[in-house]
Amino acid sequence: MPEAPKNTHKPTTDYNLELKNKKTLQFIEDVTSNADEVQKKVLEEILSRNAHVEYFQRNGLNGHTDRETFKTIMPVITYEDIQPYVDRIANGDTSPILSSHPISEFLTSSGTSGGERKLMPTIEEELGRRSLLYSLLMPVMSQFVPGLDKGKGMYFLFIKSEAKTPSGLVARPVLTSYYKSTHFKDRPYDPYTNYTSPNETILCPDSYQSMYSQMLCGLCQHKEVLRVGAVFASGFIRAIKFLEKHWRFLCNDIRTGTIDSQITDQSVREAVTKILKPDPKLADFIEAECSKDSWQGIITRLWPNTKYVDVIVTGTMSQYIPTLDYYTNGLPLFCTMYASSECYFGVNLNPLCKPSEVSYTLIPTMAYFEFLPVQRNNGVNSSISVPKTLNEKEQQELVDLVDVKLGQEYELVVTTYSGLYRYRVGDVLRVAGFKNNAPQFNFICRKNVVLCIDSDKTDEVELQNAVKNAVNHLLPFDATLAEYTSYADTTTIPGHYVLYWELSLNGTTPIPPSVFEDCCLTIEESLNSVYRQGRVCDKSIGPLEIKIVEPGTFDKLMDYAISLGASINQYKTPRCVKFAPIVELLNSRAVSSFFSPKCPKWFPGHKQWINMN
Ligand code: AMP
Repeated sequence: MPEAPKNTHKPTTDYNLELKNKKTLQFIEDVTSNADEVQKKVLEEILSRNAHVEYFQRNGLNGHTDRETFKTIMPVITYEDIQPYVDRIANGDTSPILSSHPISEFLTSSGTSGGERKLMPTIEEELGRRSLLYSLLMPVMSQFVPGLDKGKGMYFLFIKSEAKTPSGLVARPVLTSYYKSTHFKDRPYDPYTNYTSPNETILCPDSYQSMYSQMLCGLCQHKEVLRVGAVFASGFIRAIKFLEKHWRFLCNDIRTGTIDSQITDQSVREAVTKILKPDPKLADFIEAECSKDSWQGIITRLWPNTKYVDVIVTGTMSQYIPTLDYYTNGLPLFCTMYASSECYFGVNLNPLCKPSEVSYTLIPTMAYFEFLPVQRNNGVNSSISVPKTLNEKEQQELVDLVDVKLGQEYELVVTTYSGLYRYRVGDVLRVAGFKNNAPQFNFICRKNVVLCIDSDKTDEVELQNAVKNAVNHLLPFDATLAEYTSYADTTTIPGHYVLYWELSLNGTTPIPPSVFEDCCLTIEESLNSVYRQGRVCDKSIGPLEIKIVEPGTFDKLMDYAISLGASINQYKTPRCVKFAPIVELLNSRAVSSFFSPKCPKWFPGHKQWINMN
């Protein structure tokens, strides 16, 4: 994720980068050295300003602001526990339910509940906290990579569609909210936030025009680009794929100095015109590079001064590292920050480390953090065991930021300024070390997620329900599903879900391909709205595929797992596979393959709001 962008206005003479960097690094020193005191203060502040909110009154906190009382009285919760409060706010109740500050909008998380994005209430001042976290990134980076103020960053940043709750509050993803805010749009000059993409291209709601114009501006300024990136690795790869498809049009624009007629957004055209000049030499150069058979190293070829790629490649995004390495000729991949719709959490203070070693230092001023220890059930199906609801004893096991133990894994629990109290984020983190007194965490995984291509997160229950709905298509053929598993295939761009199905066939009528295609579509229709948005709107996920495997394949899978040490008594078919030899085994026994013939249905906003706006 890029840093808090400030503006591209002309530099003022009193801009002192060195001093600014020094101050920022000192801030990090201070808050990490005094992590516990800062956390205590943050909690007191959150509790005292919200002392009279309904949620605290119902739980009987009675105005207490100390950690001990808070921890004894307040429950550790998940989204479902606060959903009734969220629904009331969405429906227009403006009384202080969760926060004494007015809820300014809802941030729609990529985590879902009941198939719909979770709605995180937020307040205006949170934007300032997000900006603060962004502003830490480049001073940290500048300690390791000098001269980044001498050029530009080519970041592919996008807004997504937004909806309105019945009460008229906007509901949109956190980055859309941020890019549309004055914190981003009217940012003052900062040499570190000098981007190739003008604001208008980022803020264009049409994803094709946005990508096209950002790529065009990036190409025009190719020599100035010192770093490239997107939020997630998947987004950056999508941009490369876009270039592969559209470079001829882009070259034509650069050759002639005119913008393709498909770019109809006036503000985008005007912004691009300021950058685009006829440059036949540059067009020849791009054409020569793009028409070569191999696209290996295309990033370093077209943007020769690039020093690193700034994308998140931790968590499920690590599946994209080989593809990124290929296109960038192994440029360093830097993961700079860890954030969510609920709250922005922390930064990577050692961005030069390998992706597998990335750790994030939680910034103690962002929220009050607690940690629930988790146990990992080791074995072939290594799974993470975290209770769904916590009993009193388990609630007491939560530890504070400065009390986590090196090497131990925890689920992150946050209390935010905007109205989430002891809220389980759903991420599992492992303590990798300490910066002064503040722990640094490896991101281990998101609980329960089995499949992920972009920002979609599909859990085992959603997958199971979707498969259950799909197999109804097989009933007329007297066929049943004996076993299944799934795989997030990112060798295609965009990646797509693959389901491996082993069937029990009792009937004699062959099953026509169209039936399996219907099964694919039914699964897609049954998956959550983030998945469907990725398919329909963002085109970041390709059509779902079902591969039918030979009878006996899942027995072979079990034999293989047992040969690797799984217990025969406890063996359960994994509902998702990642391990390459297992994927190979499944692929080698696939007898046919079918794809979803069209996109599933998707509408912006929650299904319960349709017709209410
Ligand atoms: P959202 O609420 O949709 O913004 O998604 C936030 C979630 O994305 C987090 O809770 C994590 O699961 C994931 N995420 C965010 N930043 C990172 C990161 N740096 N590495 C791995 N996963 C991340």
